[in-house]
Amino acid sequence: MKLWDDVTKAASDAATMAAKKTSELTAAAKLKYKLHTEQTRLSVIYEKIGRLYYDSIKSGVDNTAKIAELTAEVDAVSAEIASCTAKLADMKRKRLCPACNAEIAKDSIYCPRCGAKQPASTDPQE
Ligand SMILES: [Zn+2]
Repeated sequence: MKLWDDVTKAASDAATMAAKKTSELTAAAKLKYKLHTEQTRLSVIYEKIGRLYYDSIKSGVDNTAKIAELTAEVDAVSAEIASCTAKLADMKRKRLCPACNAEIAKDSIYCPRCGAKQPASTDPQE
């Protein structure tokens, strides 16, 4: 029953591939959702900074400490956004140009957008 075994194995392989693809899509969707959430959070923080700055100019209140606190939050959220963006690029078998942040092919030697020379790939699969 060699043929039947082959058919069974092919079906099993197809099911495994479909399950893997589904879990990859789910992981990508989760990352995109997280990215969107963090980008919204970043906008809210920037708005707060703007409001505090406006108030300090308008009424002379010293909001420097609060603004500095929010600036640190901007850095943390920005790092999270960069991490999500890099992971999403990696899922698409791409990477981000360290100079301009463009999504480029993993094997690029130069960035097609800004022309920056790319660091040597450390991907063991290449
Ligand atoms: Zn670039």
